Amino acid sequence: MSTAAAATGNGMLQVEEARQTLLDAVAPRDTSSEPVSLDAAEGRILAEDLTATIAVPSWDNSAMDGYAVRTADLSEDPGVELPVSQYIPAGQAPKPLRSGTAARIFTGAPVPENADAVIMQENCTALDGRVRIDKPVEAGANIRAAGEDIRQGATILTAGRRLQPQDIALAASVGIPQLPVRRPLRIAVLATGDELVPPGETLGAGQIHDSNGPLMAGLVRRIGCELVHSCRVADTSEATREALNSAAADADLILTSGGVSVGEEDHVKAAIESLGSLELWKIAVKPGKPLAFGHLGNTPLIGLPGNPVSLFVTFLLFAAPVIRRLQGRDTLFPKPAPVPAGFECDKPGKREEYLRVRLSKGRLEAFPKQGSGVLSSAVWADGLAQVPAGARISPGDVVDFFSFSDLVF
Ligand code: AMP
Ligand code: MG
Repeated sequence: MSTAAAATGNGMLQVEEARQTLLDAVAPRDTSSEPVSLDAAEGRILAEDLTATIAVPSWDNSAMDGYAVRTADLSEDPGVELPVSQYIPAGQAPKPLRSGTAARIFTGAPVPENADAVIMQENCTALDGRVRIDKPVEAGANIRAAGEDIRQGATILTAGRRLQPQDIALAASVGIPQLPVRRPLRIAVLATGDELVPPGETLGAGQIHDSNGPLMAGLVRRIGCELVHSCRVADTSEATREALNSAAADADLILTSGGVSVGEEDHVKAAIESLGSLELWKIAVKPGKPLAFGHLGNTPLIGLPGNPVSLFVTFLLFAAPVIRRLQGRDTLFPKPAPVPAGFECDKPGKREEYLRVRLSKGRLEAFPKQGSGVLSSAVWADGLAQVPAGARISPGDVVDFFSFSDLVF
């Protein structure tokens, strides 16, 4: 893969082409499948298409509590009385309906043969052993037809889908007790920097707490991956090489934070180059810009920038779709929603910008401090607004909005 081909005039890759180039460089990691019970399937990735061996519902059934009738036995006028010939609660098999009679029936119970409508009980009067029809119905009324939800033989879910509770319920409705899913993708996260101290320890001069480690860990779990390594790495080539080697032994993907600029304290680039291959990219994105992509043997690696907001945004824009491709997912990146801006951008930028914004009265409000170190902006916001390079935005102009829940799925 050559970045030179895709780089634009200013030597920077555009966001879309950077994402596509990354996606083209990876393939689903492990396409084998393992069965899991329905109650363990939520959030897993479906490995095979699922077919319904039965129709749902399997038979015509009543949508109401009421009386099953043959409309031929009714007249246009209300007041017809019919003897009640059977009682059909849910879960019972009815007998065919005798002509000139009605059957007492409950929601979900099978409609008896010969009946062609159900009259809701509110439109009837129960008499002793008989029922008076107060409001006539048309044929087919209040009957849920066999196969109305799912046809027998239909594909109900396709491979690559991340299973939601409603997907699992649909599989249950056709009687499938276990689902074939992919093995969870294993991800290692390494936070580089001599200044990093774990939360809970006292800060010394020049030190900061590691927030990128917990951020990356939370994001990879949200996307449905297993966290196999999470550590802080000192800014020395030995520590970096050691951490990378042990991560590569266990992980399907390595994510690092920091250490990928061009300063002499940035060891990730040199360490990966000596152990495998690496390209350092400048992407025309704000916040963000430096991103590293490489391989340690078979294991791909994405080097994310150290500034917490840059890390967050570049994770969402670049690492998340790569993870989804490695997982074998059917959808890799969300479609934005067009939403009017409530903010103004009067200084056109050279890079595509992703502002932390919040929806308020149908418009996007921008957090006042958009610095790449201002993590509070990501907590305050609902998502990101995309401002194209060179664009001026006035309040009311429609921009592309990506909610955080659309970006982390
Ligand atoms: P770097 O990319 O290593 O030059 O880091 C850029 C900025 O991000 C510096 O201000 C770092 O202190 C900060 N930073 C790097 N790693 C972390 C981390 N794990 N948690 C919080 N801030 C970090
Ligand atoms: Mg650093």
